[in-house]
Amino acid sequence: MPPAPPSTPPATSADSPAARLAAVQQRIARAAKVARHDLADIALIAVSKTHEAEAIRPLIAAGQRRFGENRVQEAAAKWPALRAEHDGIELHLVGQLQSNKADEAVALFDAIHALDRPSLVTALARAIDRAGRAPTLFVQVNIGDEPQKGGCAVADLPGLLGEARGAGLAPAGLMCVPPLGVEPAPYFALLAKIARDHGLPLLSMGMSDDFETAVTLGATHVRVGSALFGPRA
Ligand SMILES: *Cc1c(COP(=O)(O)O)cnc(C)c1O
Repeated sequence: MPPAPPSTPPATSADSPAARLAAVQQRIARAAKVARHDLADIALIAVSKTHEAEAIRPLIAAGQRRFGENRVQEAAAKWPALRAEHDGIELHLVGQLQSNKADEAVALFDAIHALDRPSLVTALARAIDRAGRAPTLFVQVNIGDEPQKGGCAVADLPGLLGEARGAGLAPAGLMCVPPLGVEPAPYFALLAKIARDHGLPLLSMGMSDDFETAVTLGATHVRVGSALFGPRA
């Protein structure tokens, strides 16, 4: 068996969730310092998808309050109870969103990183109107222009932003998942440039294997799962 990559710690009792959290926070702080970014501008989202409440509680106990899920149904099953136990939980949707789940997503999530098409603009605008509550919105960009991959094509972004603003939405940032298996830095840099060009202050980029690179290139939100929770089943 090949050795596990350093960002995916083995699930031994010696490394506690609190220790993993501290290690990830320290790596974010180092990367921010090297790039002279203000640490206060960088939000760590602990991506808890597939993990049960028992695996999430120790991270909450260690002080983590910002979590990410990629399925509305799974989040709706897990988080109302956890939220009832702790104040200040902030929940982020980091996966694809079906238009027919827009109402549920707007009710449940504080931020949605998956706005990627005109039909979802319409559904979210209606849902936000009905709920009287507006999650922070990120437009997901298919930054490598990969066929089959989620996210708005780079070329379609200006049009989608225009439609969103026309519908009364105010996207605050961009999100991407760069192509697998290649150096992510050029893609992070490109996303940062596009966000700047459009006056969008937030950048959701970087996962367990590349969050330090993302931080040096201006990420304001890193989405870290396995480096905090261990590998997913
Ligand atoms: C699962 C997931 C993550 C976290 O991935 P890790 O490699 O476990 O850190 C981040 N972003 C998105 C969109 C995901 O689906």
